[in-house]
Amino acid sequence: MIQVIKNGTVITMDEKRKKKYENLDIVITDDTITSIEENYQGPYDKLIDATNKIVLPGLVNCHTHLGMSIFRATNDNLTLQDWLTKKIWPIEDHMTDDDVYYTTLLSCIEMIQTGTTTSNDMYFGVQGALKAIKESKVRSVFSRCLTGRDEHALERIEEFKQLVRENQGNELLAFTVTPHSMYTCDKEYLKNCKEVAEEFHLPIHMHYCENQSEVEGIQKEYQKSPAEALKELGYLEHKLILAHGTFITEEEQKLLAKGNVSIATNPISNLNLGCGIADLVSYQRNGLNVCLGTDGQGSGNNLNMFYHMSMVDQLQKAKYQDPTVMGSYDVLKIATINGAKALNLEDKIGSIEEGKKADLIILDLSNTEVYPTTDLITQIVHNVESNNVDTTMINGTILMEHHQLTLPIDVEIIKKQIDQITNRLMVQEEK
Ligand SMILES: [Zn+2]
Repeated sequence: MIQVIKNGTVITMDEKRKKKYENLDIVITDDTITSIEENYQGPYDKLIDATNKIVLPGLVNCHTHLGMSIFRATNDNLTLQDWLTKKIWPIEDHMTDDDVYYTTLLSCIEMIQTGTTTSNDMYFGVQGALKAIKESKVRSVFSRCLTGRDEHALERIEEFKQLVRENQGNELLAFTVTPHSMYTCDKEYLKNCKEVAEEFHLPIHMHYCENQSEVEGIQKEYQKSPAEALKELGYLEHKLILAHGTFITEEEQKLLAKGNVSIATNPISNLNLGCGIADLVSYQRNGLNVCLGTDGQGSGNNLNMFYHMSMVDQLQKAKYQDPTVMGSYDVLKIATINGAKALNLEDKIGSIEEGKKADLIILDLSNTEVYPTTDLITQIVHNVESNNVDTTMINGTILMEHHQLTLPIDVEIIKKQIDQITNRLMVQEEK
């Protein structure tokens, strides 16, 4: 099947091309971008008119927990540790795979509607989560969250290994090994996780140095800095996606940069939980690949990457008291191609190039809040809202066209199920 996105203003995020092209046609054959040219005259099965619209690579969310949609904004006046131990974990103990199916499905729809085409997810209830991910047809880097300080720790690893074995060959699915963090996993367990990464040749994705209290805990346990502790564990020999990384000293940045390390920053979550502001300018200067995550909705509010993207830029400018330290194009890279690199998917997604998979979004910037558009890339980073996402395509399949979901999913029915889950679990919590 040949689809043509015609006459759009295209931001390719391809380093070899200009930043912006007007009136460009993108030809998609089945799941792959096969041509990017002016005035395509060849055959097609479907024409998507993008006149006066913007075509972008789909956004890549490098750290999230899709099953957490029912915890949206539950972190008011709570520290990270209190929020997790008093609010989240007691409720999660009662969540079934079926609950996680619905909560993940709601998140997948949220991503499609807000222009995210790939997520890097870690959670539990994996059979339910995977069912939702497959039904919604979003691209997913997926994992069973591995916590390792109780008697079920090794069972979780076995569950993960089984999951990987059962889901080989799915074009939209990849895996990472996800020890939750150094505070929820002891040394021995972290080594077990590393062995799984070696066995399956997978990257490791974990929470890392989210707030000062976590850093102090690691220093106490390992008697060295968190980066040196990672080195001791052998983690720097692996491709690593470190979520948050709010506190990494310059010396540690240089040590981490000797490995293959990406920092998935989560600015909204860090602000909500009073964690701090990651020094992304320094991380990039020292050679770390910076990408963007939303975290779960509990701490991150929503999965709308445009909202989180804007905060990346503004926080760095405020932190340095200098508006020149980061530009909008840099931020757009953080939300697209840098994410693809972090997830080992840069040969497939993250930019609009011939040979890559057709993960694309089309923005309509005709409403008054974004009109007129004089500096397009800054407008996208700072002023686009989810309602500007007109069309979302993943792997050549249109999942939303002109704001209408094409999936056979009834959002109202899902919302009713979510209401039931929320009522049951929140009542359970209060008992
Ligand atoms: Zn997280």
